[in-house]
Amino acid sequence: MPLLELVDTTIAYGRIEAVHGISITVDEGELVTLIGANGAGKTTTMRAISGIRPVSKGAILFDGVDITRMKAHLRVLEGIVQAPEGRGIFPGMTVMENLEMGAYARKFASKAEHRETVDRVFDLFPRLAERRTQTGGTMSGGEQQMLAIGRALMARPRLLLLDEPSMGLAPMVIQQIFRIIAEINAQGTTVLLVEQNAQQALSRSDRAYVLETGEIVRTGGGRELLADASIKEAYLGVA
Ligand code: ATP
Repeated sequence: MPLLELVDTTIAYGRIEAVHGISITVDEGELVTLIGANGAGKTTTMRAISGIRPVSKGAILFDGVDITRMKAHLRVLEGIVQAPEGRGIFPGMTVMENLEMGAYARKFASKAEHRETVDRVFDLFPRLAERRTQTGGTMSGGEQQMLAIGRALMARPRLLLLDEPSMGLAPMVIQQIFRIIAEINAQGTTVLLVEQNAQQALSRSDRAYVLETGEIVRTGGGRELLADASIKEAYLGVA
């Protein structure tokens, strides 16, 4: 049974359908990417999974349970956690305070579990440990992205949703972010990623789906799609 399953899911803004009956599965432990051009419906799909956009047809199952109508905050408790879009961290709060906000909804079994979660985030992002008392808004773009991901990890997700984590970052920083995402996945967290940076994303993904104007037009292994001539032409800027 997949950890996440979208079954013929349609998502609309009012009368306008943005996503037309797509089916996606993500197995436990996988790193799966959704690629596609601007306006293809990637963000809309993520919003439906995290519960901030309603589904008009079809269903979303998590761990075999129908969550199609479940409220967003309850999905977080079930383990579906999205890193804030556009790195929506709290700019006036320190790194540590931002991380604590991520843990807010979560009831830790013990202080030790809480400590262990903070330690895991600091192990993945040593930069955050160094800067724990710095306010979020004064950090670089890459550091803010790290903080956004770290904040999501504080909720101990079973499924981590990342919407364009590489957006607006320098190539070196992008590489670093992708390396850390792969590491988070290797440590056992299932990841669903939306990316325009298809090269980096595909090279690190188990599988990927290609979304075009609200429909899935291709699916396959990350490296398989990376090597595909039509994908190269459309998404990697290679003729
Ligand atoms: P991008 O990478 O540009 O964010 P995307 O693949 O994430 O693209 P979406 O943002 O999901 O695409 O948009 C899918 C479609 O839904 C587009 O046609 C877009 O215009 C439309 N759309 C998105 N948000 C809204 C909204 N709030 N109201 C109406 N239509 C919307």
